[in-house]
Amino acid sequence: MSVFIRPFYLIVPLCFSLASQHSHGADWNYHGAHGPAHWGMLGSELCAQGEQQSPIDVELKKIHPLAGSASDLKISYGAMSLDVVNNGHSIQANVGDVETVTFKGREYRLVQFHFHTPSEHQIDHVSYPMEMHLVNQDSDGRLLVIGLFVKEGKNNRELASLWKRLPDHENQTLTLSAKDAPDLGSLVPAASHHVFYKGSLTTPPCTEGVQWVLFEQPIEMSKTQIRKIRQLFPDNHRPSQPLNEREVDED
Ligand SMILES: [Zn+2]
Repeated sequence: MSVFIRPFYLIVPLCFSLASQHSHGADWNYHGAHGPAHWGMLGSELCAQGEQQSPIDVELKKIHPLAGSASDLKISYGAMSLDVVNNGHSIQANVGDVETVTFKGREYRLVQFHFHTPSEHQIDHVSYPMEMHLVNQDSDGRLLVIGLFVKEGKNNRELASLWKRLPDHENQTLTLSAKDAPDLGSLVPAASHHVFYKGSLTTPPCTEGVQWVLFEQPIEMSKTQIRKIRQLFPDNHRPSQPLNEREVDED
């Protein structure tokens, strides 16, 4: 079992890459004068003025079924060593350069994943207790984010090793070997419908042009597992944003 704490500066380059969406500035948070309603005035104008913002409330009766049943989505994830950081906004796991997603003929590589409590997206006005975001980037810098809803249920074995070691202080980091890291290929539901839409990062700078893929089938985590991250981050979700003229598709 190779778990060790290492100094923050070693992972700074990863934390400041574009797809590391939770690293933009230290002056925003999820409540009060620096909360989501004020992000536009804290130097991230798109958060207030953008018209293709995330998350959204997905209304199932309004979404467009895609022709056929295949969506061109192919996920090739596995288990890999992780650099995990408590960045003050979430628990974020930075990933090496091997896990890929292809969508509409374009290949994206997994950069990082992180967690929100409660969920950011809603389905028919209903939130889940948690949402996991897997941030993928292609060679041109385009982002595709996979959203996995988490419902309360069975203990999640794939996430158990990571959950035992969640860094509980801001800027605390750890490295998880591939043996102890979740097998993301097993974690992601094999048979699920997906919701597709164009949106944004859900944290400052709220950059748009993000392809979102939401799994309709949630994964399960136990009450104890959900409580553990909620103790660290009682509420780190951005509320739903207006859909405006966007189309939402489903396979
Ligand atoms: Zn997120």
